Amino acid sequence: MGIHDEDLQRVKIETDLAGVVSQYVALRKVGQRWSGLCPFHTEKTPSFSVNAEEGFFYCFGCQKTGDAITFVREVEHLDFVGAVEWLANRLGIAIRYTDASDGTARKERQELTELLEKAADFYHQTLRSGSSAGKVRSYLRGRGFDSETVEQFRIGYAPDAWDALASHLDVPASKLEAAGLGRAGQRGGPIDFFRDRVMFPVSDTNGAVVGFGGRMLPEGQQPKYKNTPQTRLYDKSKVLYGLHMAKKHVVEADEIVVCEGYTDVVGCFRAGIPRAVATCGTALTDDHLKLMTRFAKRIVIAFDADGAGKAAADRFYEWEDRHNAEVFVAAIPEGADPGELAEENPAALMNAVASAEPFLSYRISRVLDKSDLDRVEGRARAAANAGAIIAEHPNEVVRDQYLVEVAQKVRVDIEQMRRLVVKPVPAQRQPVSPIDSASDDSVSGEGYEQQEIPQAEMNLLRALVHHSETVTPLTLPSMFSNQLAVDAYHLVTTDGWRDQIDNTSTAVTTLVGRALVEEVDADPIELVSRALDAVIHRWNMELRYDVTEIEQLREHQPMVQWLAQRQEEMHSDDTRTAAVEAVVGWLRSQQTVNATDETTD
Ligand SMILES: [Zn+2]
Repeated sequence: MGIHDEDLQRVKIETDLAGVVSQYVALRKVGQRWSGLCPFHTEKTPSFSVNAEEGFFYCFGCQKTGDAITFVREVEHLDFVGAVEWLANRLGIAIRYTDASDGTARKERQELTELLEKAADFYHQTLRSGSSAGKVRSYLRGRGFDSETVEQFRIGYAPDAWDALASHLDVPASKLEAAGLGRAGQRGGPIDFFRDRVMFPVSDTNGAVVGFGGRMLPEGQQPKYKNTPQTRLYDKSKVLYGLHMAKKHVVEADEIVVCEGYTDVVGCFRAGIPRAVATCGTALTDDHLKLMTRFAKRIVIAFDADGAGKAAADRFYEWEDRHNAEVFVAAIPEGADPGELAEENPAALMNAVASAEPFLSYRISRVLDKSDLDRVEGRARAAANAGAIIAEHPNEVVRDQYLVEVAQKVRVDIEQMRRLVVKPVPAQRQPVSPIDSASDDSVSGEGYEQQEIPQAEMNLLRALVHHSETVTPLTLPSMFSNQLAVDAYHLVTTDGWRDQIDNTSTAVTTLVGRALVEEVDADPIELVSRALDAVIHRWNMELRYDVTEIEQLREHQPMVQWLAQRQEEMHSDDTRTAAVEAVVGWLRSQQTVNATDETTD
């Protein structure tokens, strides 16, 4: 495993599980135990229980159990060694490694982290007292950034020089480059990546600096924002600015506010909303959602979510489904951003966040606000436009509730409104493309039962289409429970299928077309693993259904356990691929067994 046994034991003994858990959820003492809301499943009454003396937790709701290392692995998405390091860090224990290469890789990371910390200090000290930073200090004061804020966010200044940081750090250019702080200049000497910019250090969840966002000064060099390029420590599609400071408040409020810029986060904190984070120069990704929903299920978007339109809508609904989240939109006045609003009118910002609406409701409100509901034509148009938006929501119950509400507001008969929702008016839509006819209602006839394709299977299809080389060897027809999806699978695993796409049934074409135009924003192997998760779940359910005698059940127990272990491994980045391959192998053998069964019958 790599960690010295003595150190591992010390971490285990010294860790206080209740203390670790209460960093994520509020715990209350109930008798000998601690009790709180489970961080692993959504619930309203506490069923998560911690036995601090034994150092074990158990959830009566979702049956999750384990020790502090398991807890940290799950909640921080770390591997075993990472979780032990996380705990050791918290206790101030220095860890020794048994495996030299393991130690080297981790030592390199450690070096980068130290370099980034030094850089953050350098930028911060330069802003506080550097002679070159006078203009920057007065600029920031003018924008309402008092010294307390500068301290709290460790805001800094990168001097207007080629190598101010490089000569301060005095390390080879290769190290600077690995940390995203600089590179070799044309004359061979190292030069800085950031120059003449206000610097916002970006930290990981635990507060270690992983990169920077540099904002230009008025009349400074373009572009407005410059971010650390991708490094071993910094991946913009995974990091959220401010989360290490916000997480405590996020958990308390069970709500996280997502902004677009560093200054928006600072503004929110100053306006009394210390549960704000920002993406670092990128659109929200699936990984961001995964990260956020570890801390809160209610996500409030504090930027122009409407501007992104249907593409964003599809993603939001998918995320709500996949991550069990609720996406709300704060009513930030058009043209304003949270940072400005915090400065001009903090109460208005508070109010915009407090009165955030569910995403669908927000979009409908915008349509209705812009319509002339006093006139018949205006109401008809509003009905059509709102209908098209409602039609995009994947859940029928949700669609129905909104259509009733809108029908009343625009004074249209409910049945008529229902027709508008099922068939959006062409004027609102792009020319007919596969994605249009792929709305779940239209997948009917042609012998297919009218049923929605489970999310995991839809994602697997997408992964197959976009990453066929990686995913095809790991996919079997039995990973799909839906006949339509099975047929789509057979199509997309045929050589030259793109040319044959029109020769199959419309429902299959439609589905594959949809998969073709929808991007995959997650690791393909992970998508395979989620589909396998569902297969294993089904297998377990069927087993329980089929097996009547306890003896039979016992016979299957080793397999149940083996699968459970692979499932566990599929949840960790380091062990996923091997576990996926193992489960696929098992699934393939199952198929052979079934085929033999059938022939002997
Ligand atoms: Zn639970």
